[in-house]
Amino acid sequence: MMGSLRTIALAILAISAFTFIALFGRLPAFRKTPIALLHRAVWIYFPNGVAYLDSRLLGGRLVRTWNRSGSYILHENHPLVLIFFVGLLAIGEWVFLPVAWPRMSSVHHPWVPPVVIIPYILLYKCVMTNSHVTPENHNEEMKRYPFDQVLFHPGYRCSTCNLIKPARSKHCKFCRTCVSRQDHHCVWLMNCVGANNYMYFMSLLLSLSVLLAYGTCLGYSLLRQSLQEMIPAHLQAAMESWIMYFNIWAIVIQSDPRIGTITLLMLMTAPLAMAFLAYHTYLIWAGMTTNESSKWSDWKEDVEDGYVFKAHRKDIPDAHPFTDFNEHPWPVTSDQLLVTDDEPPLEGYILVPGTNRIDYRSDEDAPIDSRWVPVHSMKDIDNIYDLGFWNNLRDSAGLSVRRMGRK
Ligand SMILES: [Zn+2]
Ligand SMILES: [Zn+2]
Repeated sequence: MMGSLRTIALAILAISAFTFIALFGRLPAFRKTPIALLHRAVWIYFPNGVAYLDSRLLGGRLVRTWNRSGSYILHENHPLVLIFFVGLLAIGEWVFLPVAWPRMSSVHHPWVPPVVIIPYILLYKCVMTNSHVTPENHNEEMKRYPFDQVLFHPGYRCSTCNLIKPARSKHCKFCRTCVSRQDHHCVWLMNCVGANNYMYFMSLLLSLSVLLAYGTCLGYSLLRQSLQEMIPAHLQAAMESWIMYFNIWAIVIQSDPRIGTITLLMLMTAPLAMAFLAYHTYLIWAGMTTNESSKWSDWKEDVEDGYVFKAHRKDIPDAHPFTDFNEHPWPVTSDQLLVTDDEPPLEGYILVPGTNRIDYRSDEDAPIDSRWVPVHSMKDIDNIYDLGFWNNLRDSAGLSVRRMGRK
């Protein structure tokens, strides 16, 4: 009896941990941590290991079969994860609510329906709202953000869509189109999270966190009632010891299995939803998308290696201008120019247009160009897309932002 419960709990915990690592392990915050290593193990080392064994033992037959079915799973926009996600939600509610409803105090009755229904509405909005860049809206999308010439440079054409890429957009190979203010492609939603559905996505994370936290508390209070009724007082007093504590809860969950299992499931998945919500709140605070956060951490590594140099735009007359600042007023401007190289720019360098690289016409040793200074900290680099938390929040919701002056 104890054993099977422990197995279920461990299985749920293992699935939650695996999901967390598989989904979030790539995030820059986990670089150089065991989580990133485990993420690589899941996505790179394990598949490579299987492919190696397969080529040695089976002549590559397994990989060919996998590619026929597996490439569908990994590279196509398919609904399996969405179905799993909705299924888990619906089955959990179907198991929990009919037994919990009559037992819960009536003060909860008005709250439960909205808490249950709102995530479905937001999920629908997330899935159905796209942020595709199309020939029809391209002009407008180009005006949405200026090019910062750090992460985004003007003049790059998407070879698939045959459109100039707007600043902060990214081509999504799953959606097969460029996506405006692309945050990430979400397999749970079968859609990119971008300019038009980011607020639905944040609201979905919030509503799921509320659902799971509220459900856990409700489930706990019902199980607590069962415990009071079932367990004699002298045994309840013995719950001071950890072993008795877990044993008694195991008995309660076994005797109340519908509420017990779903409460356990909610308890273990609530941190996932909240971690995701917290991470996106951090991104809004920092003024970046998930896509940009990995670009910024590349910059951070270059800064740490001493490869980034900065100059004032007014001192470099031949620098390509921020074309869009004239066309499209943005609340902040910046006069920074950044280049990356393994040594300071020497006099006579050429700025390679549309990049942060420099080049030289000749190999001659020239003196260091004193207009460029090394960047020692990310604090010395302007992120023109960061307008402060509230304006970032308004901007990510597609609302207008106040004029702010110089960054
Ligand atoms: Zn594209
Ligand atoms: Zn996508």
